[in-house]
Amino acid sequence: MNTQIVPLTQDEDKEALLAKLSQAGKIIKSGGLVAFPTETVYGLGGDALNETSSQKIYEAKGRPSDNPLIVHIADMEHLEKIVQDIPEYAKKLADAFWPGPLTMILKKSDAVPYQTTGGLDTVAVRMPAHPLALIFIKEAGGYVAAPSANLSGKPSPTRAKYVIQDMDGRIDMILDADSEADGAIGIESTIVDLTGDVPMILRPGYITQEMLENVIGKTDTDVTILDEHSKQPPKAPGMKYRHYAPKGELVIVEGEPQQVVNYINEQTMLHAQKGEKTGVIGTDETIRQYTADSVKNAGARGDLLSAAQQLYTFLREFDDENIAYIYSEAFPAGGIGQAVMNRLLKAAGHQCIKL
Ligand code: AMP
Ligand code: MG
Repeated sequence: MNTQIVPLTQDEDKEALLAKLSQAGKIIKSGGLVAFPTETVYGLGGDALNETSSQKIYEAKGRPSDNPLIVHIADMEHLEKIVQDIPEYAKKLADAFWPGPLTMILKKSDAVPYQTTGGLDTVAVRMPAHPLALIFIKEAGGYVAAPSANLSGKPSPTRAKYVIQDMDGRIDMILDADSEADGAIGIESTIVDLTGDVPMILRPGYITQEMLENVIGKTDTDVTILDEHSKQPPKAPGMKYRHYAPKGELVIVEGEPQQVVNYINEQTMLHAQKGEKTGVIGTDETIRQYTADSVKNAGARGDLLSAAQQLYTFLREFDDENIAYIYSEAFPAGGIGQAVMNRLLKAAGHQCIKL
């Protein structure tokens, strides 16, 4: 398949921009697939109400089809068609956080095929905050099913060049809005399940439990997110798969900053003696001390948004640089730190050394 790659910027001629997004929307309406930018990561979109489109998404990603997709909408009124009832919680959360990086799980209506929900009676819905994504979704008919636009198991793409790496030849079009990508959040949306008695976070993200509780009161977090040894399967099916993984072996190192630096530099030396390339994810506080072949700075430990924004890019860059062993500092788990640690632990297959 020939994949069209279409560059977009918000300040280009409005008519030209609209023509491109309208063409992309037509591809979705006729059953094709388009990768598009959002404020979290790039999505791989198809018509959420067309079962064949959802099947094509699974095929393009090489993703197991029991791993449901998120339905992206651009208009609050469109929610009614795809869910059975809209609980008060959902309205409040939508008012507070949509458009934005929050996905809500609700009871699905008959309009949503089981191919889109991985066989579940519930559907995941989000209204993304990216202005171009909103226009694209409207042009596509209002319901775009989209997982992250990476091959299954690879880090989610925060840049179009990584979408191209994974999806060129597999989908109809890639909308490249990299020139706008700087403010992106960089990790996937928070997922909250509103179908039980108490709202439950199934995947942490930029919107934290505290932010949700400020709006709707008591909210829980699925224990399997926090506990690597939990025997329970995670409630978001996708969380059970190894995810976000770079090709190199990733290990997280936790301890006093100076101990961590010393440990990682020792390991760097041992690898170097065997001719193996190493990479490090460090922070402002420690970065100058590392001796690895490739050293990435996640920013200040007090500002983990910067770590979230850059994490997947770092993992992809290590791949590009053929790094065999990657060491990352552990991050404090408050606020968005919980989401950063969740993704990092999954990328590392839970390999974490505590000094
Ligand atoms: P991704 O599109 O890669 O961000 O993955 C979507 C995530 O949403 C996966 O982890 C899914 O398991 C989760 N998800 C989607 N729909 C549902 C649902 N109905 N119930 C629980 N989790 C869901
Ligand atoms: Mg994904």
